[in-house]
Amino acid sequence: MLKKADILAFGPHPDDVELNIGGILALHAQKKQVVVVDLTEGEMGSNGSVEIRRKESQKAAQILNLKVRENLYIPDGEINPHDLEQQKRVVAAIRRYQPDLVLLPYWEDRHPDHAAASRLIEIAIFKSGLKRYLLDEELPPYRPSRWYYYLQHQHENPNLVVDVSSVYARKMEAIRAYKSQFDPRMGFKTYINQPIFLQKIEARDQYFGAMVGVKYGEGLIFKPPLSIKDLFQL
Ligand SMILES: [Zn+2]
Repeated sequence: MLKKADILAFGPHPDDVELNIGGILALHAQKKQVVVVDLTEGEMGSNGSVEIRRKESQKAAQILNLKVRENLYIPDGEINPHDLEQQKRVVAAIRRYQPDLVLLPYWEDRHPDHAAASRLIEIAIFKSGLKRYLLDEELPPYRPSRWYYYLQHQHENPNLVVDVSSVYARKMEAIRAYKSQFDPRMGFKTYINQPIFLQKIEARDQYFGAMVGVKYGEGLIFKPPLSIKDLFQL
């Protein structure tokens, strides 16, 4: 059964989309069908457990008002763009949801899974459009016309900044749903559960916002040139 999505956002681990495009997702979910597909369950995370993180990601999905959130169960730490089985799972997700727009991680990052996920999804976007690339499931070929990259740890100047000021409280609430990951009182001390980490996310979003004169912004980068009908369309 086909479920059409306006936006399909891929996250290497549950919490990546919240941290980096939680505002964009919440904003568009007010009027559009927004689907999130996480590639892994984040089982290599130092704190929490798969069960806890599963519940946290579903809670965050409700806060963001996502249409569907699903997981491809690729092993955490093992995302590999050249793994044919992983490619198939991502292609199946694209063909299932037929999104107008795909959001994927930027191609450089300190976390190897993030960079690998970017390449894996790029390959899947291409293969998904091939008529002769067949899957076990009967899904028609489909290639989205647009895909934008979101920044994670790597800093770059974005090409597009989306004003997410009106939904920023919701983004932070969705991030806080991952108590096991970001609450400093939970377990083992990590890079991400110290207050400075979320401070950095907020500071970046304020900086991107300031670039376009708004309070909070989330940045995107596009690789293929954008096609527009006239210069006033954007
Ligand atoms: Zn991640």
